[in-house]
Amino acid sequence: MGGTKGQANTMQNLKITQCKGEGQGSCKRCDDYGVWNRHWMSLLYKIEGYEGCYCSECVKEIKEERKNER
Ligand SMILES: [Zn+2]
Repeated sequence: MGGTKGQANTMQNLKITQCKGEGQGSCKRCDDYGVWNRHWMSLLYKIEGYEGCYCSECVKEIKEERKNER
């Protein structure tokens, strides 16, 4: 029963900040899934350590993924 350990669990709390910018932008994750999307920049969020901006739905998803990732 060795299992895997030693992975630092430092990403539990992702730092989420609001995207800055004017006009509209698109969520990077939705883009990756081929979903065409348009959001006002003020409705997009930046996740520390991630590139691009994400909609609130995807921020939630990414948080979940992070939680399940070990
Ligand atoms: Zn999205």
